Amino acid sequence: MSKYHPLTEQEAISIARNIPGIFSGEGELSCREIGDGNLNLVFHVSQASTGASLIVKQALPYAKVVGESWPLSLDRARIESEALIIEARLAPGLVPKVYHTDHELALTVMEDLSSHVIMRQGLIDGGVYPLFAEHISDFLAKTLFYTSDLGMNQQEKKVLARSFSNPDLCKITEDLIFDHPYTNADTNSFDPHLQEDADRLWSDAELHLEVALLREKFLTHAQALLHGDLHTGSIFITEQSTKVIDPEFAYFGPIGFDIGAVLANLLLHYASQEHWSTDAASRSERRQYLISTIREVWTGFERKFRVLWNEHGTDRIAKTAGYQDHYMNRLLQDTVGFTGAKMARRIVGLAHVADIDRIPDADVRATAQRLALAIGTNLIKQNRQVSSIEELIDIAVTAS
Ligand code: ADP
Ligand code: MG
Ligand code: MG
Ligand code: MG
Repeated sequence: MSKYHPLTEQEAISIARNIPGIFSGEGELSCREIGDGNLNLVFHVSQASTGASLIVKQALPYAKVVGESWPLSLDRARIESEALIIEARLAPGLVPKVYHTDHELALTVMEDLSSHVIMRQGLIDGGVYPLFAEHISDFLAKTLFYTSDLGMNQQEKKVLARSFSNPDLCKITEDLIFDHPYTNADTNSFDPHLQEDADRLWSDAELHLEVALLREKFLTHAQALLHGDLHTGSIFITEQSTKVIDPEFAYFGPIGFDIGAVLANLLLHYASQEHWSTDAASRSERRQYLISTIREVWTGFERKFRVLWNEHGTDRIAKTAGYQDHYMNRLLQDTVGFTGAKMARRIVGLAHVADIDRIPDADVRATAQRLALAIGTNLIKQNRQVSSIEELIDIAVTAS
């Protein structure tokens, strides 16, 4: 019989106490559950006498969304911990340290990052993160290059991909990002003032064709090991440090999906400046900062990915003249399309972002929502024509 059961705080303390090298044998430990409880439990265990602390994250066997609940594989906890360990090896310093894993209990014991803030909240509070683009482009280039057919043995990649097949969590993405927002689905949720915008989205055949092509890539293009859920709520940040958490959606998919997740959340925040900036001058300044960050994330990623390819590429045929440029251009187009898809679903689909949902005034919120939707749908429609990051930036700036 499986020993799985949701932990109590006392049990989380017992597990924490057995991790070597963190706590002193003397002082008492205390524990708080700090997760939002929809999919996972997150226990923060600390020792007042030494100031030491750690996190115990445990998967729950179901997802709870607006009162409803559906079963969800506990195997995602193994996937999360194995992805964190691979990411730590490929991109040192950019993920929390993993101290211990227990696949039967579906848990990962890891470094406490409470000295950082969740980037979504940090941005809402007006934070500026000068090293973010450098750090996240490093994370993206290294984790994606070294798990692709360009940077790893192609037979070993196929074997590794077996243990990251992750059907349950991919299904969430396939439904909530690539299907439901484009039809009158029960899971959708949006402000009533957006009904006409939603109707337009549901009847736009040109848009649906592009979504079908993007969905096909998500379903079939096992390009590299993705994080799979790389929004600003999965990034802990300070001015000096960036740490990526929560890779439970990891699987072998199209590289542009991870880059698009980062850019989409920067653009959702860009749209939310309708509220968070109090006057036109500060709004313009804030938006310029976000646009520079977007530019630096892409150009940093592209430069680093090409250097890795040129210096560590293992494959002869991949050195064929013209192939790298062709490949990078397709990555850019995929990034643009997935950026758009990840924006649109946050406005009409099931899960929203606090940047926009927390805008108190309904008219201001509607302006931000329509701006995000306009940017998102334009990016989706134009993704296959784009040949430079400046075109993505133009689409955002022109819409606002
Ligand atoms: P979920 O998969 O349920 O979204 P996350 O891994 O995103 O879980 O964690 C949920 C929340 O728990 C985070 O937003 C953060 O507040 C807290 N948390 C998670 N991991 C850590 C950590 N390593 N250090 C400190 N807090 C954490
Ligand atoms: Mg959550
Ligand atoms: Mg999360
Ligand atoms: Mg998660």
